Amino acid sequence: MSRRLTIVTTAIVALIVATGIAIVWMRQQAGPTHGNLLTIGAPVARPPLLQRVDTPHAKNLILVVGDGMGLTQLAAARFALRGPDGILWIQALPSTALVRTQSSSSLVTDSAAAATAIATGVRVANGVVSVDPAGASLPTLFERARARGLSAGLVTTARITDATPAAFSAHVASRDDELEIAKQQAASGIEVLLGCNPEKFLPPSRGGERKDGADLAAALRAAGYATTLDPAALSASSSGRLFGLFAEKNRPPLPALTRAALDTIASDPEGFVLLVESEETDSASHNHQLERLIRGMNELDEAVRVALEFAKADGNTLVVVTADHETGGMQLVESKTERTLGVRWSTGKHTGQPVPLYAWGPGSARFDGEIDNTEVHDLLTAALGLDGLSMDP
Ligand SMILES: [Zn+2]
Repeated sequence: MSRRLTIVTTAIVALIVATGIAIVWMRQQAGPTHGNLLTIGAPVARPPLLQRVDTPHAKNLILVVGDGMGLTQLAAARFALRGPDGILWIQALPSTALVRTQSSSSLVTDSAAAATAIATGVRVANGVVSVDPAGASLPTLFERARARGLSAGLVTTARITDATPAAFSAHVASRDDELEIAKQQAASGIEVLLGCNPEKFLPPSRGGERKDGADLAAALRAAGYATTLDPAALSASSSGRLFGLFAEKNRPPLPALTRAALDTIASDPEGFVLLVESEETDSASHNHQLERLIRGMNELDEAVRVALEFAKADGNTLVVVTADHETGGMQLVESKTERTLGVRWSTGKHTGQPVPLYAWGPGSARFDGEIDNTEVHDLLTAALGLDGLSMDP
């Protein structure tokens, strides 16, 4: 063997060994869920079991939506965060159902159509926000509740004008019409608006996108809302009205947003409806980001814990946790490494899988079997006693 060949061979072997060492090191540095290996967490004590509640009527509703959260996202979070035998707070809710999610235009829904189904009980086409094919507004659960005197709140880690909160608070033919959604949300009377990206509410002079020059944040402040764009200044509002939108990269955690919303509207003697949404679960699943997904699931689960603690003390609150659709076609498969599971994704888009629903509190026992997402609306309105309420002008 020539000397040159020996040097080249040695260099190649050294490079392979160095690459291997680097990969192992990077995996260790990256934490428990690097790449496509899910590390099973240390065992964590289970939350106390909740008893099924059979009374039919609730005064309050906390509806939690994990955008893109399928059964596999829940299972992955359970394994990573609670160990092989632990359960999430979400999974402590004793009444469960499976929810069919197709829209009127596609067997694979988007968030707009799915949220419209839950908000209005009507199946619409993908992209549509709570209007019928002729463009007429479909009354939402929130509008029915507010017509009965209940307070309402929207909490999300996404833009507040994004499809899921929009379906409960606005009526537009396209989810992309976010400037109009913001205008309708500001005029909706909904007592709590907490989410991300204030630009759709502000004029260009305040760094916003409103070409009509309207300052919706200032209008809300004039209408008695406590308003803030600073995450450090987030707190409950004693006026019962709270508007807070934050930069996505620097927003308060979902449990803190949920608590501020509850502390603002829960004292309404007529009751309240509150939507709490996590967008992280969908974004992470679109992009196949396992660590981000587990972080987002943990944040969502902690928000559910806040909701449950309130509901337990209150005794009159229905808590429902579900999703609009599954994202990513996530699968958990055997792996060769100990205490890990392999993770596979079958798409970067949404899927047509049914999604899980967990419920606890008065009205929760109605959730049973496999149901349409429009029936989620019907069961929620029945639980709140809003089903006979006419919304005709
Ligand atoms: Zn999505």
